[in-house]
Amino acid sequence: MTFEDFNFNEELHEGLLSMGYKEPTPIQKMAIPVVQAEKDLIACAQTGTGKTASYLLPVLDLISKTDKSQTSTLILAPTRELAQQIDQQVEGLAYYVNISSIAVFGGGDGFIYEQQRNAIQHNVNIIIATPGRLLAHISSGILKLNTIKYLVLDEADRMLDMGFMDDIMRIISHLPKKRQTLLFSATMPQRIRSLANSILHNPEQINI
Ligand code: AMP
Repeated sequence: MTFEDFNFNEELHEGLLSMGYKEPTPIQKMAIPVVQAEKDLIACAQTGTGKTASYLLPVLDLISKTDKSQTSTLILAPTRELAQQIDQQVEGLAYYVNISSIAVFGGGDGFIYEQQRNAIQHNVNIIIATPGRLLAHISSGILKLNTIKYLVLDEADRMLDMGFMDDIMRIISHLPKKRQTLLFSATMPQRIRSLANSILHNPEQINI
């Protein structure tokens, strides 16, 4: 199986070639068709396997082929560092596609908060966020999540370890029920399975 088999938008294909990707990794071979079939997914995968591109590539492709005027994608991540890394991958892969993204995380000065606020108000296509700061923007009334079609939870086990369970459930209560949800976790303890049961709909399962 090659990247050609996924029939990605040409500009996206150029983006992944420019990142030096020659062949899909095992998780990409398994996850990309599931996302393209618009199914929910629960994937057990470690960092370094190419898990980020396994959801970014098909989601970027779906966004590029549909309405780009709204915020369609929310990616939740446990830390500022991971949110920024994901944002960098979006920028690399979507370099030739007109898709906007912002990493939203806590801390920083007022300038960073304002920058996040501005991007949110201008209908950025993809928001990559740590749960606490995202809730702050929701509470302030500037962020509406009613146009979200794709929700990704990255490193879900770390988010639960860091005590984000309640924040995650509060964020999800603001999302449309009809959406596609993708959950990635390095480990699959019972509480991840319970979370998956409550937020995923008939998910496909992948273990790497
Ligand atoms: P991740 O597991 O998502 O943290 O990815 C680990 C690293 O592998 C990142 O630097 C990615 O840019 C890179 N990567 C992802 N997919 C591929 C691929 N198909 N070929 C080469 N590198 C890749």
